[in-house]
Amino acid sequence: MQIESAIQRLIDSTPGFMPKNEGAYLHKLALRSPGSTEHPLVEIGTYCGKSTLYLACAAKVLSSTVITIDHHKGSEENYPPFPFFDQRLRHRVTQDLETLDTYRDSLRLSGLDERVIAVVGDSNRYAKFFPQDTAAFVFIDGGHSSIQSWSDFIDWSPKLIKGGVLAIHDVFDDPAKGGRPPFEIVTALRHSRAFVELDQVGSLAAFIYSS
Ligand code: SAH
Ligand code: MG
Repeated sequence: MQIESAIQRLIDSTPGFMPKNEGAYLHKLALRSPGSTEHPLVEIGTYCGKSTLYLACAAKVLSSTVITIDHHKGSEENYPPFPFFDQRLRHRVTQDLETLDTYRDSLRLSGLDERVIAVVGDSNRYAKFFPQDTAAFVFIDGGHSSIQSWSDFIDWSPKLIKGGVLAIHDVFDDPAKGGRPPFEIVTALRHSRAFVELDQVGSLAAFIYSS
């Protein structure tokens, strides 16, 4: 199932950190998940909605819903000295990062707004109110510090239903290419009997929750 060209153009022009080949794989993974009206696709780390749009396209086909969670203040690595600070996304009053407006624009323009529920808040606090054994797909791409990556994994992987797909972004085997926590989580998943690994495309790793 291809993404419509107008939506792909919108995705391409949306700020974010999702290379096209990995976005295509994210879309494919979501389509193969057991997403349905009862079982949503969950994303941790919305930013401006680039990856959310790939998931929303799949949710439309599955008659499912994307629940995307972000406090929209950016992660540690979105601020200097890291190279990912985007001056265009400064909040007009506080001057720190603010991604909610850009996210809203992207979703409105896509026509997929109704497929997505955006939760504006902390991923771990929200996890306390979200039932276990509910999500067909969990995509972890929030804060990439060790504590944040691991707490997202610990809080959100139990939300999956059996047969659900867990996708982890920014997994780099080579420490020179990126931070360690996502790679460490994936290494732990490879040792777990509860998860079966699917292909990794670029830095996007995926597993099926099998028991
Ligand atoms: N998935 C996006 C990129 C996400 S960047 C894309 O592919 O385009 C990581 C995001 O995680 C940032 O927007 C940041 O605000 C968010 N984030 C970091 N820590 C968080 C937390 N504890 N709760 C909610 N969101 C968080
Ligand atoms: Mg990422």
